[in-house]
Amino acid sequence: AAKDAGRNTYQFYNSSFYERVQRRVTLEQELRQALAHDEFQLAFQPTMSLRDGGVACIEALLRWTTRAGVQRSPVEFIPVAEECGEILPIGRWVLGEACRQARRWHEAGLAFGRIAVNVSPLQLRDPEFATQVLAICEREHWPTDRLVLEITESALMRESEVLANAFALFKANGITLSIDDFGTGFSNLGYLHRFPLRNLKIDRSFVSQMETSPNMLELTHAVVSLGHALGLAVVAEGVETESVLQLLRQQGCDEAQGYLFTRPLPGAELATWLAAQG
Ligand code: C2E
Ligand code: MG
Ligand code: MG
Ligand code: MG
Repeated sequence: AAKDAGRNTYQFYNSSFYERVQRRVTLEQELRQALAHDEFQLAFQPTMSLRDGGVACIEALLRWTTRAGVQRSPVEFIPVAEECGEILPIGRWVLGEACRQARRWHEAGLAFGRIAVNVSPLQLRDPEFATQVLAICEREHWPTDRLVLEITESALMRESEVLANAFALFKANGITLSIDDFGTGFSNLGYLHRFPLRNLKIDRSFVSQMETSPNMLELTHAVVSLGHALGLAVVAEGVETESVLQLLRQQGCDEAQGYLFTRPLPGAELATWLAAQG
């Protein structure tokens, strides 16, 4: 009996593992074709200045609709794109498309500060990346000082010559960095001042609990103080209610992003939204 149970267990794990591998292989294959098949779009979500109420920044967020019509979340496919290296060409596409869209809004006379693009640690480690960013801005006629790259704390963990060179090039061209999901990684706080940072973005998981958890309220306050001590603007992500926004204002947070203002929108719809801001 024990032997049978063992065999069943083995088969159970075996088949579910097989299924997982299958799904993963399929996803990877679909991902490798997605650029060529024009299956990516960008959605855009603004960040509001809590100082003057203007649109401080617009973040580009990747969207993927497969040929079968299935919408896949970046939370699901970005890690796979990173593992198979496909994030490099996809990331270049995102940068070009975001700058092109920003240029169009600018030409339409719509007011906003900068365009922000999420960048994977893998892209930052690519020695070609920084010069590619500059070339893309030039190609799309987008001023480098109106581009923000959103990176995660993990990207800064390992110091390297590639990273130092990239940051020097960004700094010389006015490209700024934003630390995304701040508080979820383990930043070496002593190093933060070395990078051409513009903002800290407080992770949504903290912001969404500000009303219900005194600890989270303390935590966001601490991040605001830390950011200001480092001379950085602090952005709260995932702001869904007026009461959370009120708390953030009280804490002196500089900018806010979230469904309270708008969900991420396709470029054309964001233009309408921007025009209505006045
Ligand atoms: P992120 O950069 O932290 O982006 C914020 C995420 O929170 C977005 O999810 C956005 O739709 C969502 N969000 C914004 N406001 C609210 C809110 O009020 N409530 C809630 N519940 N959610 C809100 P999304 O678009 O699914 O993106 C998820 C993550 O995928 C991003 O997190 C980013 O890490 C990654 N990602 C998206 N696009 C790209 C890309 O082009 N390149 C790379 N490397 N990563 C990307
Ligand atoms: Mg982001
Ligand atoms: Mg974020
Ligand atoms: Mg986040």
